[in-house]
Amino acid sequence: MTADRARFVERGEAARRLTVPVSFAQQRLWLIDQLEPGNPFYNLPQAIRLSGNLNVAALRQSLDELVSRHESLRTTFDRVGGEPVQVIADHGRAGFREVDLTSAGAKGREAALQAALLEEVRSPFDLDRGPLLRAALFRLEEREHLLALTMHHIVGDGWSLGVLYRELGSLYDAFSRGEEPALPPLPIQYADYAVWQRKSLEGDALERQLSYWKRQLEGAPAILSLAPDRPRPAVQKFRGARESRRFPGDLTRALRRLAGEERVTLFMALLSAFAALLSRYTGQEDIVVGSPIAGRSRAELEGLIGFFANTLVLRTDVSGDPTFRELLGRVRRVALESYANQDVPFERLVEELQPKRSLASHPLFQIVLVLQNAPRTPLKLQGLTLAPFDVHSATTKFDLALSLAEDEGGLAGALEYDTDLFEAATARRLLAHFQRLLEAAVSDPDRRISALPWMTDEESRALVSQWTSGRVRHPPQSCVHEMFEGQAERAPGAVAVQFAGERLSYGELNRRANQLAAFLRGRGVGPEVSVGVCLDRSLELVVAILGVLKAGGAYVPLDPDYPADRLSFLTEDSGVEIVLTQKHLESRFTGGAALVCLDTDWPEIAKESGENVPSGATPASLLYVIYTSGSTGRPKGVLVTHHNVVRLLQATEPWFGFGESDVWTLFHSSAFDFSVWELWGALAYGGRLVVVPYLVSRSPGEFYELLSREKVTVLNQTPSAFRELIQAEESRGASLPLELRLVIFGGEALEVSSLRPWFARHGDRSPQLVNMYGITETTVHVTYRPLKAEDLLSAGSRIGRPIPDLRVYLLDRHLQPVPIGVRGEMYVGGGGVARGYLNRPDLTRECFLPDPFAGDPEARVYKTGDLARQLPDGDLEFLGRGDQQVKIRGFRIELGEI
Ligand code: AMP
Ligand code: MG
Repeated sequence: MTADRARFVERGEAARRLTVPVSFAQQRLWLIDQLEPGNPFYNLPQAIRLSGNLNVAALRQSLDELVSRHESLRTTFDRVGGEPVQVIADHGRAGFREVDLTSAGAKGREAALQAALLEEVRSPFDLDRGPLLRAALFRLEEREHLLALTMHHIVGDGWSLGVLYRELGSLYDAFSRGEEPALPPLPIQYADYAVWQRKSLEGDALERQLSYWKRQLEGAPAILSLAPDRPRPAVQKFRGARESRRFPGDLTRALRRLAGEERVTLFMALLSAFAALLSRYTGQEDIVVGSPIAGRSRAELEGLIGFFANTLVLRTDVSGDPTFRELLGRVRRVALESYANQDVPFERLVEELQPKRSLASHPLFQIVLVLQNAPRTPLKLQGLTLAPFDVHSATTKFDLALSLAEDEGGLAGALEYDTDLFEAATARRLLAHFQRLLEAAVSDPDRRISALPWMTDEESRALVSQWTSGRVRHPPQSCVHEMFEGQAERAPGAVAVQFAGERLSYGELNRRANQLAAFLRGRGVGPEVSVGVCLDRSLELVVAILGVLKAGGAYVPLDPDYPADRLSFLTEDSGVEIVLTQKHLESRFTGGAALVCLDTDWPEIAKESGENVPSGATPASLLYVIYTSGSTGRPKGVLVTHHNVVRLLQATEPWFGFGESDVWTLFHSSAFDFSVWELWGALAYGGRLVVVPYLVSRSPGEFYELLSREKVTVLNQTPSAFRELIQAEESRGASLPLELRLVIFGGEALEVSSLRPWFARHGDRSPQLVNMYGITETTVHVTYRPLKAEDLLSAGSRIGRPIPDLRVYLLDRHLQPVPIGVRGEMYVGGGGVARGYLNRPDLTRECFLPDPFAGDPEARVYKTGDLARQLPDGDLEFLGRGDQQVKIRGFRIELGEI
């Protein structure tokens, strides 16, 4: 090598300095330093506590001797023709300063030390001038010191620290005894390596290796991201922190044993478990992790201080839910191939692959696994007791970096994390999950990785108890029409419902509904009998629904807008024998159901009594059958009871305080269960219900005028409809007064940013905006999240918490809880869970499962197919439908298989 070097080396001014090309790794760090001068991201800090009589002069002399031995430590960087070069000085000294903290009292001293130490390890290096190794000696007491040694990564790496400690110990030993040190001279220097690397990385060998990497990394995901606790900043800020954890010795031994059996290294076994963990966290099957490799493939390099480490991009295929043993085999193959192609410097690889560069994250990988296996002899100094002192520069280059080192006690781990993305508690949990998963994997390596337990027992217990802690409420004692009857008795003259200039008082509505009920009862309607309701928006629509309920029956809403074949399907599938409708809609029905036209047949109906008669229905009786289409298959009728609806009203009423001064709109089709909420939120609490004419519901401008004219107080909207309303308001210069006190969103994901103009005009206090997530199968609403203007800052769609008598579980495909922060499928339990699907026992069994945590064999949960995660503050964040999610990520996973 030295011969090669001679050809490259140029003698600098006055023959005092050599210039040599930089290695590839150095080139990248130099570039980063050019882009962001004075950054501390590549500082390598170490701190050691020294107890005993320290010979400061000998220490300093030893450090200087190190600099004399290793050219790397007296190297600085310069630019020649735009390219960086190494400039090796003939002589140099290590940076050295002493800081006296003895005057600070014992207590103040720790704080002063921490502050001074952080400043020391974060102060930047000047690559143009050096020195690039510096020591700070903090004097704490006469015989107590703390030595901080900081090196720039461009001249050293993890392995180098072992060399440094070994030599420093032996030099100090000699100097403190007044002897000449006897370290053998170094055979070559870092510059020789740099020259050799440049030369050898041309031609066929490099091409072969590069083409391996191109093949191996083709189509790899650009980002493997754990859903962060906070939205990822557009530009990575490199702020980090660290959490440590020690893994038990037994576990380490068991892991080594398994590794031995499977002919894999300890690192490969750890990577397998880490990849399994990341796949569980992310739902991805293609797991790319970076890992440093010592890069000292030749014996002559082993004794050098310098930056030899390279980073391998290890891509693990976790698809098909392999057993842990199978996964070990896959990792082994990939790791061995990677080692065989390890000469391509990471920076060359980035150049070659040209991944879409983003300032937001590290290229090619964002998560790192390190197993410290460089010989790391601890520093020993003659006559002194030394203890490592934990020091962290509060920076990180990655989303997450897990470093592990093995010692007599087992494995010690530290997880460095980006503090702009993650909270400390998340990092702590991840470490605990890693341990739990490792334990499970070694104890049962033939288990599929999706089935390996990963949460600690306390953690699952705490989550489940949080999920199930909701108040158990007394089951409702009345039917929903009985709540209405209570209001009709209390204030018969109050306006109950109005439509285009017509209105009905509570008393009048009650009387008409009673007449219709009596008429229906005479035609066989009673509890558990369904009646079709197909009417235009009108007063009659409300009379019809109420009449069916008062007869004890259940209604099946049939939207007159539906195409004829859908109407026939619904009539047939629901088995209704009577359909309440209007004359002009008659021709749309061809089946055998009897049609009763509330307009033309009314004189007949009006002959019946207008008095309340007990309906025979109980809270357990069927209230309505609403059809949902789902993404595939034919529509299915959801069977919802009075109990389901009354408890929804009673559970939410304390928050919303519905009452007789409220004005509601009936905006939604009666075939959409949002209308159930609108109807009874008004009529069960004495409010006024404004039936919105169909065309007005389709014209945001007219609807805006209606809201103002009718002094509506409670508005229910899908986010998309509300967006149009915001625009309508905007285009009228927000000129009309509104009396809204509540705007409740439901039916689809809310993109909070769409509310920006609204908040700008109205603030976030009045009206109160609320996001509610809900499903027909669990009765209109499931969760509740009041919105504030500050929510505009956060990404993601928060749906808040379950309403008090419901539970939301986030589970994986084995029905096991997923940890906080991790995506799971939502399962909803509690009083809103519907009876099931009409005439579809198999589908009902598939989607309505026994509640795994209720401790009540009767309790059921509904499997929603929706994905969500729990944020650290307890809110749920909606993450989309299981199927869409899969499409977005480009992975083929069955719905719900997460
Ligand atoms: P459906 O059963 O037809 O009422 O549809 C229910 C589905 O609508 C849920 O499973 C969600 O996918 C979606 N959805 C309803 N409300 C929300 C909401 N607030 N945020 C996000 N998605 C919602
Ligand atoms: Mg819904």
